[in-house]
Amino acid sequence: MISLTPLRMKELIKKIYFLNLYLGIFTVIIFFDLQSSSSSNEPLIPVLIKKWTKTEAFEHQSELVWNLENAKDSIIYDANDPQANYIIPEDNCTISYKNNRWYVNGKEVKITALKIKIKGNGQIIHAKNQYKHFLFFLIREDYVFFIHLLPMEEYVFEVLTRETFVVWPFESHQLFSIAVRTYALNKIIEANAKKRPYALRNDIHNQTCIPEKHPAAFDQFKKAIKSTRGTVLVCNGKPILSMYHACCGGIIPGKCRGFDFEKHPYLKRMSSCTYCKDCKRSEWGRDEEVENIMKKLVENKTINEAGTDISIGRIKRSKSGAVQSVEFIITPLHYGSAKKRKKRYGKKTITLTHKECKKLFALNPHQQSFFIESIKKENNRIFIEGKGQGHHMGLCQQGARKMVEAGKGIREILGFYYPRSILIKWY
Ligand SMILES: [Zn+2]
Repeated sequence: MISLTPLRMKELIKKIYFLNLYLGIFTVIIFFDLQSSSSSNEPLIPVLIKKWTKTEAFEHQSELVWNLENAKDSIIYDANDPQANYIIPEDNCTISYKNNRWYVNGKEVKITALKIKIKGNGQIIHAKNQYKHFLFFLIREDYVFFIHLLPMEEYVFEVLTRETFVVWPFESHQLFSIAVRTYALNKIIEANAKKRPYALRNDIHNQTCIPEKHPAAFDQFKKAIKSTRGTVLVCNGKPILSMYHACCGGIIPGKCRGFDFEKHPYLKRMSSCTYCKDCKRSEWGRDEEVENIMKKLVENKTINEAGTDISIGRIKRSKSGAVQSVEFIITPLHYGSAKKRKKRYGKKTITLTHKECKKLFALNPHQQSFFIESIKKENNRIFIEGKGQGHHMGLCQQGARKMVEAGKGIREILGFYYPRSILIKWY
């Protein structure tokens, strides 16, 4: 069990009180009559499932159908008018939206925006996903938002089931629970400040569909979450942006470019994580024939026609040593007189950014921040090599796991990956 850091507790409690008040106001403004999920002040987290323009929503009318199961006595509200509500009289029911009108089992109901509060074991099925608690369909200015609102601890569980391995040590689940919870809380506050109706997107990080049944082994996640319930990392009284990634490959985040370390000083780690070095993602490499690279360059219209060869020119690097851009020098097809060739068909130099290089070598687009360490040509192949997987900021999951296995404590590990932050119990 994690205990609180007694330092400046009084001051901290005061700050937390105001922030909680802030969160409460946010809930009221954005979600009208909603408060926290239970008596324990556990926040509810709004997760965006889909965002459409009004025109797109109109084009997707056939998708705007929600099937409710076990839903007797659940409530449909007008999200713009909490007084207007409709109690579902039967277990199974279908809600649909067409031509700016809402229908329940084919009968029109007079609401302007949909909010469903599902009871007990009931669930809402939409596009093969299942949801519990609250579901919103909001229309704001030119956009239509489809939002799932669920209790924080449940959200943490869903993330753990997708982003870590249950066979890893129990303490690594505790660490990850804290990182995920803190990140989500940070995003709720950010959404409030930006008046955004959702805190997180339902993307690779934030799946919220609830599978019918989790394996019994996932109880380990539940235990780890329960043992750290409400515990978050703060810096200057605010939940930190506790970024995490699969494997850092030893890259020092404090030396990486393009990140606001003044705003997020707890991400400016200046020491290298050596714990993940045995992980297979720590160092990686790909290679491709020059001919194939040439074909791709023509396909994506970087060059007009294929040349006979490519050589590597100047490579620009960031302070951390990551390749930022690289010059490809293309030798054109040789024809015509030597004089003409020099004039009309001289070598062509193109500059590719690291993102374009990743695309060229078909590296996973979801791992945009693959750290490219080198790019070189040998014989008729081009080799690209790099370190780690992910954005290198914050907690390195593989490294944290190894630190646990080496007997390090939770505080020490979190202190290493998020320097200048402290652990507190938020609720
Ligand atoms: Zn690492």
